Amino acid sequence: FARMPTLGDIARYHAEQRPDALALVFEGRETTFADFHRGSDRAASALAAEGLKKGQRIAYFGKNSDHYFELLFGAAKLGVVMTPIGWRLSPAEVAYIVQDAEAPLLFVGPEVIGQVPAVLGELTAKPKVVAPGIIAMEPGEGGYPTYEAWRDAAPADFAPPAITPEDVAVQLYTSGTTGRPKGAMLTHKNILGGRQAAAEAGLEWNTWGPDDISLVAMPVAHIGGTGWGIVGLMNGAKGVVAREFDPMKVLDYIEHDRVSKMFMVPAALQIVVRQPRAQTVDFSRLKYILYGASPIPLDLLRECMTVFGCGFVQQYGMTETCGTIVYLPPEDHDPAGNPRMRAAGVPMPGVEIKIIDEAGKAVPPGVVGEVATRSVANMPGYWKLPDATASTIDAEGWLRTGDAGYLDQDGYLFIHDRVKDMIISGAENIYPAEVESAVYGHPAVAEVAVIGVPDEKWGEAVKAVVALKPGVEADAEDIIAFARTRIAGFKAPKSVDFIEALPRNASGKILRRELREPYWAGRERRVN
Ligand code: ATP
Ligand code: MG
Repeated sequence: FARMPTLGDIARYHAEQRPDALALVFEGRETTFADFHRGSDRAASALAAEGLKKGQRIAYFGKNSDHYFELLFGAAKLGVVMTPIGWRLSPAEVAYIVQDAEAPLLFVGPEVIGQVPAVLGELTAKPKVVAPGIIAMEPGEGGYPTYEAWRDAAPADFAPPAITPEDVAVQLYTSGTTGRPKGAMLTHKNILGGRQAAAEAGLEWNTWGPDDISLVAMPVAHIGGTGWGIVGLMNGAKGVVAREFDPMKVLDYIEHDRVSKMFMVPAALQIVVRQPRAQTVDFSRLKYILYGASPIPLDLLRECMTVFGCGFVQQYGMTETCGTIVYLPPEDHDPAGNPRMRAAGVPMPGVEIKIIDEAGKAVPPGVVGEVATRSVANMPGYWKLPDATASTIDAEGWLRTGDAGYLDQDGYLFIHDRVKDMIISGAENIYPAEVESAVYGHPAVAEVAVIGVPDEKWGEAVKAVVALKPGVEADAEDIIAFARTRIAGFKAPKSVDFIEALPRNASGKILRRELREPYWAGRERRVN
């Protein structure tokens, strides 16, 4: 791994070692490592020909594709920073990111190309205008130049500049669960350093062989898509790229493309495991499912373990830390009642974790506080947000996660929830994730979110917002009574609302602030 300090080195190294091995497969199109190295060189040359310079950003708005990864690596070879944008965002949200990143080029997937005029309209409506050139990833409406033709027209004799591990490679916007997305600047070293330390530590689930096949099914606008894709490429594995998350296709990829490892968020796993077909698919090639990015209800985890029958590894992390900083090893996944199955896990090799109080002082094991972390994976900061950066990372390099949790005596991290989502009812602190996990066990409940609503007596009261399984009945009393059998009475919901489906963002995270909004309209909710 010492030979791969930057993304460009990954492409070069594997092209030298195993030129004919497949790097990526996308809807039948196969890319060998030699192709990937050559294609990304060409993309770098094409970007240089457009006048792009080291340190500038380009933006990608679209679903997943093999060419996204080629372009990302090509940009990285030139020191140009890739900014992927979620395809489910509205034109105004897309324009916000393009403008914020000051991207002179916007690459657009065929699925969203019809939205380009609206995005450009939003941009000109703003006082400070960037007028990006548009390149279509695949032929489509609008008559824009297409990626392959653009790439292949670039001069072949192109001399890339020197790239150091400290250069920024990717600017990923946070999921926007708690507010406006922030551009986390991630360097080559942030992205690769932590993964390489973990690989060298020889963790079995994290060891990759030439036969490993990885499924990239989460959106590339998130670290669970882009980061996971890079991990596979770094390890020389074959990556099967799914254009978007589709549960039937996930089962196809497992069955026919012989996927051995995949990363998925709990909301996606729930959809896959509930497919009737999941009962008959042969999962014997699947070695590990890595899951994380939001809390997983224990009953869902147990169901997945039964149906998939493979190893499970939880991942806890955030965009700002290039994803995983804490993992729950397969051996702690013990459905027979091991309390550790409720933990997020232990720090990855080279990662420090501490729990701090409001004053920033470390607290002892067992005491709940805010999780802080320090490692090579921590971003240097948020793009153009010096205040947010300063309040997130301290002078010693500790990054505040905004999550509440505690460490046990053995160093296992238990995540309670976001500090901002904690409910204070009377003098008690209640964490929505724990209540959600309890309510989720009710047989009629398909999904549940728990929020704090204003309460005359208690300050805040616990409310559950529930979507029922189709064709199943349950009323608020049933659900409250059920919750009280599983958790302390003061934590159980005081009221239940029923809803068709919960609002989630593209990372599958429940938007509790949206659910809270109508109850708090016109009132200040204290922020912890
Ligand atoms: P924003 O920062 O814009 O509000 P976000 O925090 O949701 O959005 P991400 O960086 O995608 O954006 O998500 C990181 C967060 O996801 C963590 O801070 C944590 O709250 C949650 N999370 C990640 N992994 C886990 C896990 N294994 N269990 C529980 N929560 C998790
Ligand atoms: Mg966050």
